[in-house]
Amino acid sequence: MTDTEHFVEIKHAQKSFGKLEVLKDISLNVARGQIVAIIGPSGSGKSTLLRAINDLDALTGGEIWLDGVQVNKNLPYRQYEKHINQMRQDIGMVFQHFNLFPHMTARDNVTMAPKLLKGLSKADADKLAEEQLDKVGMLERIDYYPSQLSGGQKQRVAIARALAMKPKLMLFDEATSALDPELVDEVNQVMKKLAEEHMTMIIVTHEMDFAASVCDRVLFMDKGVVVEEGPPSVVFKNPTKERTREFLRKHL
Ligand code: ADP
Ligand code: MG
Repeated sequence: MTDTEHFVEIKHAQKSFGKLEVLKDISLNVARGQIVAIIGPSGSGKSTLLRAINDLDALTGGEIWLDGVQVNKNLPYRQYEKHINQMRQDIGMVFQHFNLFPHMTARDNVTMAPKLLKGLSKADADKLAEEQLDKVGMLERIDYYPSQLSGGQKQRVAIARALAMKPKLMLFDEATSALDPELVDEVNQVMKKLAEEHMTMIIVTHEMDFAASVCDRVLFMDKGVVVEEGPPSVVFKNPTKERTREFLRKHL
């Protein structure tokens, strides 16, 4: 059964690396179609939280649910592999460093996973590549290799590749922070467009203006806890916590 208010549910997430406790009892619900920004200082656990959602970093405590299914289910190894691979098909992720396959064209980057996992025919794969690359304004470069693309273009191909699996949820981890400033906007525009299409998204960003204009909610994390959360109009304009105010003084 699908609960649209609890489309993504993080319950008491806890993560330690050895003695270092990086996530301390984080709970978060994201409704279907909602766009949540996560902000916070470097080292506060933002990437770890995002990576926990598709179990790239396994939690040491707590639960992650997506669309009524527990992602980090306790299963025997083989069953778990099957389960998590299935779940990951529903979760698109875009990282700071475009991790396109360098020896593949934009087309092949976009269609590799769907061909492998969904057994698409060549014709269907080509159609999918065209659709997805058109969506991010990269249709003209469909047969270019990553080395022939700018950082912004590579990041747009990476988004198209994630979208090609028709994910239920998109995760962005500082997708624009490795880009030259003049290339940031073309990537932000693509994310804005996804927002208008009501893609459910969790976006780690240090661009406060972007978060304020695109996101429904902002979550401020520090030292492994959610210090404050609310609509951008509240968190950015009238934060209630001193730690949030201090962070924003440096970053707004
Ligand atoms: P953020 O994305 O907010 O900058 P991270 O989630 O990357 O923060 O990291 C939070 C803390 O966890 C940091 O202190 C970092 O050094 C530590 N950390 C992250 N990944 C690992 C890992 N694989 N092993 C040990 N420590 C890690
Ligand atoms: Mg990070």
